[in-house]
Amino acid sequence: MTYISRRTQAVIDLCALKENYHQIANLAKKSQTIAVIKANAYGHGAVKIALSMQKYVPAFAVAFIDEAIVLREAGVSLPILILEGALTDKDFALAEQNNFWLMIHNPRQIDWLTNLTPAFTGKLWLKIDSGMNRLGFMPQETTAIINRLSVSQQSNLVLCSHFSTADDSSNNNSQQQLQLLQTLAKQHNCQYSIANSAGILNWPQSHANFNRLGIALYGASPIEKNKLPVTLKPVMTLQSNIIALRELTIGQFVGYGGIWQAKRPTIIATIAIGYADGYPRHAKSGTPVWLVNNQKTAPIVGRVSMDMITIDVTDIEKVNIGDAVELWGNNLAVEVVASHADTINYELLTRVSDRVPRIYQG
Ligand SMILES: *Cc1c(COP(=O)(O)O)cnc(C)c1O
Repeated sequence: MTYISRRTQAVIDLCALKENYHQIANLAKKSQTIAVIKANAYGHGAVKIALSMQKYVPAFAVAFIDEAIVLREAGVSLPILILEGALTDKDFALAEQNNFWLMIHNPRQIDWLTNLTPAFTGKLWLKIDSGMNRLGFMPQETTAIINRLSVSQQSNLVLCSHFSTADDSSNNNSQQQLQLLQTLAKQHNCQYSIANSAGILNWPQSHANFNRLGIALYGASPIEKNKLPVTLKPVMTLQSNIIALRELTIGQFVGYGGIWQAKRPTIIATIAIGYADGYPRHAKSGTPVWLVNNQKTAPIVGRVSMDMITIDVTDIEKVNIGDAVELWGNNLAVEVVASHADTINYELLTRVSDRVPRIYQG
């Protein structure tokens, strides 16, 4: 039985998702824009996101094959790019059966691949390390690696690399990474792909045969908001409500460790969300929470607990037990909360835990 008494939930706006996709894909009309739905679609629920987007996108991408299998079993039929490629030799057979596109980025994967009989016939992406220094072959190894592939594997190959600083439009490292990949793609007459969200938004010259759209699909920005060429709509609104109110006198403390002390008579509202739900424990006193009825923000005071947070509502009239709050979403950008917690929007979205029901709208 699923019984829901707590009103903490993540509302997922599927219309906003589609609008974001179409707007961003329109920035790169000559590219195929792959929707990246790894990590449970950045916390939004990968199966639901995939099923609602499969009419519009050419392919999906996830980090590893386990994530792709879940999607196939749920009826997602489009190709799925596996960004980390095969992690065991068995992954090749699964990829071939399921139309998963495998990234090849290390010598071990090449050995597995070249030992297969009959030869692997699925689509391969070859990852080149253009400066991220995390995955991929050195540029000068490219020819030798391609020569180990069969003629039909070579003819279907996509050269791939990943930007390390595409969020910074003044850093010419991205230009160098792009040039390196373009030179190789030309030399080997291959399709290629380099742009992530920040690449698509900041570096139009990086739009290639395939772009890989992640964070911005969900309406969260990888770059400064005033530099966005489109208006993104947050897809996730994280909501909860007030479950207690109390009055403090001057000098009283709030929460674990007593890190916050009332300097005036204070009204504290306690909200039913905590770090076990994915609300960041590192959110400092002062992190805003949006009060839905009052259309105002109130600051967190004291430590974030496992199941609860506390906010100071002294300056807000008419606050009641049961009132709805928004932790981030349409009225309060996830980037604002991230900066108060010394992290980034990616981490907050992907860490919303299974304890929080996802409610789909649109
Ligand atoms: C996660 C990922 C992406 C998407 O990145 P965003 O910044 O979320 O757009 C693209 N390519 C690779 C290789 C990735 O791992």
